[in-house]
Amino acid sequence: MKTPFVTLPQLQSITETYPTPFHLYDEKGIRETARNLKAAFAWNPGYKEYFAVKATPTPGILKILQEEGCGVDCSSLTELMLSDKCSFHGHDIMFSSNETPANEYQLAEKLGAVINLDDFTHIDFLEQTLGYIPETISCRFNPGGIFQLGASKEGFQVMDTPGDSKYGFTREQLFEGFKKLKSMGAKRFGIHAFLASNTLSNDYYPALAGILFELAAELEKETGCDICFINLSGGVGIPYRPDQSANDIAAIGEGVRQQYEKILVPAGMGDVAIYTELGRYMLGPNGCLVTKVLHFKHTYKEYVGVDACAANLMRPAMYGAYHHITVMGKEDKLSDHTYDVVGSLCENNDKFAIDRELPEIELGDLLVIHDSGAHGFSMGYNYNGKLRSAELLLREDGTVKLIRRAETPEDYFATMIFE
Ligand SMILES: *Cc1c(COP(=O)(O)O)cnc(C)c1O
Repeated sequence: MKTPFVTLPQLQSITETYPTPFHLYDEKGIRETARNLKAAFAWNPGYKEYFAVKATPTPGILKILQEEGCGVDCSSLTELMLSDKCSFHGHDIMFSSNETPANEYQLAEKLGAVINLDDFTHIDFLEQTLGYIPETISCRFNPGGIFQLGASKEGFQVMDTPGDSKYGFTREQLFEGFKKLKSMGAKRFGIHAFLASNTLSNDYYPALAGILFELAAELEKETGCDICFINLSGGVGIPYRPDQSANDIAAIGEGVRQQYEKILVPAGMGDVAIYTELGRYMLGPNGCLVTKVLHFKHTYKEYVGVDACAANLMRPAMYGAYHHITVMGKEDKLSDHTYDVVGSLCENNDKFAIDRELPEIELGDLLVIHDSGAHGFSMGYNYNGKLRSAELLLREDGTVKLIRRAETPEDYFATMIFE
């Protein structure tokens, strides 16, 4: 059973001012998540979460995370500019991009961000772009092969294929790269890896930490480079389905601590800082998409047409991802109807739910589509001339604040040239 963080009376009052569809975020939940994460890694004095901006690039959200002590992880020019506008400075910005254009490296360096290189060839590219190599530098590692964790009856609990992923240095390149960077003037080093996404397992971070800690100890020994931080990146997941259980962040932090004590401390590396770049875990459950039922259609299936579409939340269309739906005010009713809940795009994958069992829906019902807080609004697009929705923040005191206005037709036409 999944319970929305907002009630029907609250939503009825919000929709008097702000028309559907909109994304709504829960300030209380965001702060709690950030505090629990910080507590889980409090054993590591240098620990810092660099929130992955691409998950929710909204100033009203970044400000909350900043107040909770988070930095930001950027992947593009505009994300760097956004972070600058939100007063993130210097090493509070991580810049992890790939196939990076020169002007992005220039801005990252100007802001004093920590640059995380995705490829061996970028060492020379960065040096040519800046005229030097920054003293603090990080490299992204890709071990290749298949990363798997925790066999279960249905197969592997977590499996991803780093060997097929375009990111990161090979092991050999990493050793060569560190030596080269050191000879070019780098003094403080970091390593980064992202091996599996949306993991529902308390073992992912500890397993990744084990791999990276062993690697760091070998790297430091063989290259003499001073490894100052190890970045576990993103990938801690959330339970999108009601029958899944959430990760236990305290257990995850403790699992990483055990690897740290086992591997890094004996290697004389007990001062290495741990970084994370969580996006989904921080924001996913703390946001939802609110939409209204506009139409019914009875053909070969029963369709419920809503005023949101895949342009507001792409994950179901793009990945076949499950997003739970609550029909507001009918939480206690039996789910004895089967519907496809669809948006209005001229794309037959514009379905928030297929053959979903829900209580009987009526015209005008408000639906909460859960877990849209990360990689939700931010993956939005303008196909079919659809306009991006507003984003609202439900504050801790129960009031609501507009943190991004809805796009208007003027925004849509702003880049068009008519002569
Ligand atoms: C997308 C991304 C993240 C965040 O991933 P989540 O799955 O949202 O935790 C972190 N770091 C990098 C480099 C990313 O590309």
